[in-house]
Amino acid sequence: MDFSLSDDQTQIRNMVRGFAAEKIAPFAAQWEDEKTIPRAVLKEAAGLGLGGIVVKEDVGGSALSRVESVLIFEELSYADPVVASFLSIQNMCAWMIDAYGTEEQRQTWLPRLCAMDKIASYCLTEPGSGSDAAALKTRAVKDGNSQYRVSGSKAFISGGGYSDIYLVMCRTGEEGPKGVSCLLVENGTQGLSFGANERKMGWQAQATATVNLDEAPVPASHLIGGEGMGFPIAMSGLNGGRLNIAACSLGAAQSALDKAVAYMKERKAFGKSLSHFQALQFKIADMETELQAARIFLYQAAWKLSHDASDARKFCAMAKRLVTDTGFRVANEALQIHGGYGYLKDFGIEKTVRDLRVHQILEGTNEIMRVIIAREMLSDD
Ligand SMILES: Cc1cc2nc3c(=O)[nH]c(=O)nc-3n(C[C@H](O)[C@H](O)[C@H](O)COP(=O)(O)OP(=O)(O)OC[C@H]3O[C@@H](n4cnc5c(N)ncnc54)[C@H](O)[C@@H]3O)c2cc1C
Repeated sequence: MDFSLSDDQTQIRNMVRGFAAEKIAPFAAQWEDEKTIPRAVLKEAAGLGLGGIVVKEDVGGSALSRVESVLIFEELSYADPVVASFLSIQNMCAWMIDAYGTEEQRQTWLPRLCAMDKIASYCLTEPGSGSDAAALKTRAVKDGNSQYRVSGSKAFISGGGYSDIYLVMCRTGEEGPKGVSCLLVENGTQGLSFGANERKMGWQAQATATVNLDEAPVPASHLIGGEGMGFPIAMSGLNGGRLNIAACSLGAAQSALDKAVAYMKERKAFGKSLSHFQALQFKIADMETELQAARIFLYQAAWKLSHDASDARKFCAMAKRLVTDTGFRVANEALQIHGGYGYLKDFGIEKTVRDLRVHQILEGTNEIMRVIIAREMLSDD
């Protein structure tokens, strides 16, 4: 057992750390105010191979493992969890096409996704079905042999209205998971429209919107995997997505903890610096311990997914639950250590708390993570 990073991993981490510190961190608050992530910074990230981190090299991917992927998202998120998590969705969609697309689909879409000339959104949730995703109602009906007509609504879609490509889980067959397929819908398709950008607690630089489809014609050649494969594709995409969103919690929480430690050394109360108060020392000791435990657990889950371990799905769910809960708690404690200043925008901590809250909700809520974990524990095979 070796817990150290390889030279390559260290190099990748340092490269992303430098990029994120220079090109993302200084602008995160501005992008939150402007409610957008500039395309130019995504293009720059793509130049470093961050558009298709685990995608194969023949289509422009970086062909890295899930372990490097979480290292990358941890570093990006140390700078800003909002840009990091947006990149995580792009990577999830690209991986889904790489893993399940035909050769022609891979060659058509992935070079543009890896270069981030095209941005992708993942469309599973609907107004009437979130946790119970297999109850989705968006329907795709064959219209001749060469196209589908797709109708329905997808709720809470990250990148809705901003992205160029929408991977839409829709019903082509029976009720339940076996009747779901995955269709790639391009922006500009007739009948595709978007709701207003949702007003929300965090993740404000990212658009979140309803994606509406009204008899939208989608070429049959845009079906990813076969008919009825949509649910397994969507779920396996989420295994990697959950690791990455956990990494986004980890990096941002680490940043909040580092800020809290620095603040304790400089802020004075009762004639001494905060760092002299044992109550606060114990607080940061617990925050450090819990973050380090979350980190090592996340790396293990990433290793399992990369090695196709039989319990990888359970470990991805456990890591998502553990790391996003820990990350939120640590960020919130870091705010407390800053006293009233933690509540002010200038210190950057309140944004982290707001941004990390949603990681406990999306990509499967943390209650649903427990459902998955318990189901795997109680299964007879
Ligand atoms: C900012 C943001 C961005 C998002 N981006 C995307 C995106 O890009 N693509 C996408 O498809 N979706 C996206 N989502 C949707 C997100 O994945 C869902 O909100 C989430 O899965 C929960 O679904 P729901 O909101 O319908 O809650 P519900 O399913 O209605 O759940 C409500 C509550 O009940 C609990 N609950 C439900 N079932 C059970 C159960 N069996 N046991 C115990 N507790 C249960 C849940 O944990 C939750 O606390 C996003 C959401 C947000 C807020």
